[in-house]
Amino acid sequence: MKASAFAYARATSVENALELLTAHGEKAKVLSGGQSLLPAMNLRLIAPELVIDIGELTELRGVVVEGGVLTIGALTRHADLLKSREIAAHAPLLADAVAQVAHPAIRNRGTIGGSLAQADPASELPACMLALGATIIARGPDGERRIAANEFFVGIYETALWPQELLVAVELPVAPENSAHFFHEFARRHGDYAIVGLAAQAIVTDGRFADLRLGFFAVGDRPLLARSAGELVDVAITSPVLSEACAALDAELDPLEDQQATPAMRRHLAKVLLTRCVSSLLGRPDLCVGASA
Ligand SMILES: Cc1cc2nc3c(=O)[nH]c(=O)nc-3n(C[C@H](O)[C@H](O)[C@H](O)COP(=O)(O)OP(=O)(O)OC[C@H]3O[C@@H](n4cnc5c(N)ncnc54)[C@H](O)[C@@H]3O)c2cc1C
Repeated sequence: MKASAFAYARATSVENALELLTAHGEKAKVLSGGQSLLPAMNLRLIAPELVIDIGELTELRGVVVEGGVLTIGALTRHADLLKSREIAAHAPLLADAVAQVAHPAIRNRGTIGGSLAQADPASELPACMLALGATIIARGPDGERRIAANEFFVGIYETALWPQELLVAVELPVAPENSAHFFHEFARRHGDYAIVGLAAQAIVTDGRFADLRLGFFAVGDRPLLARSAGELVDVAITSPVLSEACAALDAELDPLEDQQATPAMRRHLAKVLLTRCVSSLLGRPDLCVGASA
């Protein structure tokens, strides 16, 4: 199938893109890497009247570290994130996650801004934003808005962005030296969307979690920053403690049914991931047995 007829405009600057968005609002769609937008248009799931191509706005591409903050431009491609020394040093969780996004051809075009604006609940990067405590920077006709990641994702393919706004960057706190991370997803094949996944960032001191942020994906209509992580912070972790956290996690989940898995299977896999995550971050293989019961 081919897309419906549409008009095309190549934005010459961020201001120009904002003018076009202000003039056309919900009738327009921003084009970054096109790896989600174009398939959706070709399948006629969406039919924008105008496509605003921001792909040449090089000022929106790149990674900068300053004052303990990592700023990633919206047009930074997945392949750039994989190669970035700054990401490897200061946000290694993101590097691990990007390696699981689709395939090289898609990673060569797809961007972080497009992935976050797309807000697919089975996507890796939105969950990483929750785990890393990111701030999403949006620019609109009235200036800049800073949106905490846990307020940005509001439903399936839905974000807090207004139709006239452009996602311009993401800010992440530089990972502290004593931090640790865990990333894993269950997928039918490498590169497929996850059946269930977990992106976690932690600080471990003397065998306990001083901080633990668990970003689950494909467990509901949006990524989930699990509150049950609180049960594991500042306590001695035993198998019963972990079992209680798994039960608390279960109560937080609202998984969807699709061709890949039933809700019950997703609940089970989320608990398996939590158990593996805690066991791996603490270096405690003894916690595996019985903990996922
Ligand atoms: C075969 C295949 C497999 C895939 N597998 C995965 C996977 O495993 N994991 C995964 O996460 N994704 C996957 N994807 C989806 C895709 O990789 C990402 O969603 C993609 O990287 C999005 O980035 P993009 O730059 O291509 O966005 P685009 O397709 O250009 O845009 C996506 C959406 O975001 C909006 N948008 C884009 N940029 C901005 C901006 N700066 N401000 C405001 N709105 C914006 C667009 O209007 C559109 O609605 C897959 C895609 C394909 C085709």
